[in-house]
Amino acid sequence: MPVMCAEGIVTRYTNYRESDRILSIFTIEHGRLEAKARGCRKPQSPLVNACQPFVFGQFEIYTGKEKATINACDVKESFYPIREDYECFSIGSVMLRLCHDAAPENEPNEALFSLLYHSLSFLSYGTSNPQDLFCCFLVRFLNVIGYRPAITVCAQCGRDIRSDAIVRFSPRGGVVCNACVQHGEVVSKTALEGMRRMLMLEDADMDRVKLSEQVRNEIFRALTAYTECSLEYGTRAMQILLSTQTAGQNTAQDTDDANA
Ligand SMILES: [Zn+2]
Repeated sequence: MPVMCAEGIVTRYTNYRESDRILSIFTIEHGRLEAKARGCRKPQSPLVNACQPFVFGQFEIYTGKEKATINACDVKESFYPIREDYECFSIGSVMLRLCHDAAPENEPNEALFSLLYHSLSFLSYGTSNPQDLFCCFLVRFLNVIGYRPAITVCAQCGRDIRSDAIVRFSPRGGVVCNACVQHGEVVSKTALEGMRRMLMLEDADMDRVKLSEQVRNEIFRALTAYTECSLEYGTRAMQILLSTQTAGQNTAQDTDDANA
């Protein structure tokens, strides 16, 4: 019987029939794959704890038929604390969504997997501010998928901007010098240096990031605008996160929709 074992994180699911789900799993060995989980919504199902977003586990998958089917799962980590805090849940949902869409199908991307795994771990058990962690995740995510914004040289003329008095951050490309662009939001040297340092960290050191409120807001605004402008996906999830940052409250239903 053709069976494969793969370690991965459940990034999303679709309910179908009375008690089944189709899961998307971002695996270390095979990138993103889809598999049916029969009966997993029944309370007595052995898969009931495995077929949830954020779950990291070792999945045994039967690949013999048209659609791959999950036989069993050894849950290694459910990142449960993420579900207990609304802000963490919103941030974690955006991380899942972005990685889901960026993960190649049936092709590994170990750097992206490691980034997601460490980000969810720190979001669950770390001591850092979840928004600092998200800023760090986002700049590293953009780098890993090949969309790193310009941070050190002007995105338009290519000149080193590190000693410039006035620098702006354009959602199209990143930093721009005052000679190239004279409108838009000015970004501080501290915020730019912060992003440079976040890119140099190892994934395992991501929770060392500590930002002041002003710098955190600058980086958050710059990177979310850039991400929305650069990628064709994740916009809705990002909008929900932005509205939680500005309003400080939202309904859980919205995030469920974005994640489903
Ligand atoms: Zn320039």
